[in-house]
Amino acid sequence: MAVGVVVGLTVGPRSPLLHKDALVYKERGKARVFEHPRAGAKRLAPHEGRTELVMHVSARVRGSDGKDYFKVRYTLEPEGTTGPPKFGAKKQPVVKSRTLEGYVAVDLAPPVVSPVGHWVLSVLNPLGRLFMRLIKMVIVPLVFASLLLGVASLGSLTRLGRMGGITFGYFLMTTAVAITIGLFCANTIEPGKYLDDKARDQLSRAYSDQAQEKVKSKEAVRSGLLNRVVDMVPDVPLHSVAGPRPNMLQIIVFAILLGVGFLMIPVDRARPALQFFESINDVMVRVVQLVMELAPFGVLALLAGVAGTAGAGVLAALAVYSLVVLWALLLHVTITYGLAVRLLARYPLRRFWGSIRQAQLIAFSTSSSSATLPVSIRVARENLGVSNRTASFVLPMGATVNMDGTALYQGVAAVFIAQIFGMDLTIGQQLEVLFTATLASVGAAGVPGAGIITLAMVLTSIGVPMSGIALILGVDRVLDMFRTAVNVTGDLSATVLVARVTGELDLDAPPKDPAD
Ligand code: ASP
Repeated sequence: MAVGVVVGLTVGPRSPLLHKDALVYKERGKARVFEHPRAGAKRLAPHEGRTELVMHVSARVRGSDGKDYFKVRYTLEPEGTTGPPKFGAKKQPVVKSRTLEGYVAVDLAPPVVSPVGHWVLSVLNPLGRLFMRLIKMVIVPLVFASLLLGVASLGSLTRLGRMGGITFGYFLMTTAVAITIGLFCANTIEPGKYLDDKARDQLSRAYSDQAQEKVKSKEAVRSGLLNRVVDMVPDVPLHSVAGPRPNMLQIIVFAILLGVGFLMIPVDRARPALQFFESINDVMVRVVQLVMELAPFGVLALLAGVAGTAGAGVLAALAVYSLVVLWALLLHVTITYGLAVRLLARYPLRRFWGSIRQAQLIAFSTSSSSATLPVSIRVARENLGVSNRTASFVLPMGATVNMDGTALYQGVAAVFIAQIFGMDLTIGQQLEVLFTATLASVGAAGVPGAGIITLAMVLTSIGVPMSGIALILGVDRVLDMFRTAVNVTGDLSATVLVARVTGELDLDAPPKDPAD
């Protein structure tokens, strides 16, 4: 883990050790390159459909409008002109690679980075993405089979109601406690006071484009509570798994309903289908074990990517805010989960923390509760001594609806942004934060960055400008790692509690590989 961070910081794009003279544009059409160093000069269209463009900065000049400009040079390789011509297609003109020069306003440019560091990350990136994909590949079949079996194996609707009640009760209670801790820390430490005006302006300029996008993708979140409940039920279940991102809430609802259906038909009729899902489940668990062989490399690549792109500069400007989030998360993990695991579940704390390390590490490096799910299920069954059916019931649901870390961070972020805008949140508004952040954490998908999208909903509910999101975006990727690790810890604490209450905890079974 540390190796990834060190690699990212020392030989990544923002490394203080490497020479920095490159501007990297990721999104189409984002680069505004002028023919001359002045506003209103003729604009060049540098992207021409490319998704990434690297420009080399050769000088910094003062433009005739008094603003600073980078003189840049970049090469456009021909794209889309390879491959055999299609029958009947017009003959494509041969496009040669062209090197162009122009000027980019310094205040609109992305940070200047090292081309070597950029190359290092572009080599490591595919490895991290490969690891993520291998884990994600098993999520849908695993969640579906394990949740369905978890419900069906409860044997009766009464037991289902009991286990569901305890699980949801615990989820809601810990989420409310988490937000309260976040609000308390943000109100007492007041991180907003530590951000000076200059840093504020810089941050909001640098991240305003990205913030706009987050706010746009939030439109779906604002669709109203009732509509959201309706949306949880799939009309065609196959649609829930198709598309770029599976709809986990719909998959969960479908799996629970099927499980309930199995409980309502005679056992001999249910048996054959259940056996089928049992084999799918077992196979998926094995596949996860295989994928985990790659974990050290995958984790290194993912962490190098985050450390390399965030860099130390933004972290410094938002240090107090980040520290408040981390401090509050630490309090929640040690006090809330510590008490719940020790006193409510009567589970040995040392064994609990020792057993869940691998799940926390995967959550931290992937920033995705859903991607961590296969590992959490394995950890709960093999290391914590939780029964299959409890783990299969609590964890898939927890990965999607229980996000204490996310809810806590939204509490801190809402107060922080309000403080920067000079707004004092009343008790009523803070209760509103408690309510909406609880809902937002239920609605957020267990994927990287989901929390910042639903934060827009929290801010709207208390009338804080959503543009404030731009201020915290720079550190969000790093904080996401911590809050995801907390989310997963919360789910695992729920499994031991539910297993204890329902008599499904086997503490005598030695952990298989606690430090795995
Ligand atoms: N990445 C988080 C998770 O998967 C959600 C979030 O807070 O963005 O649990």
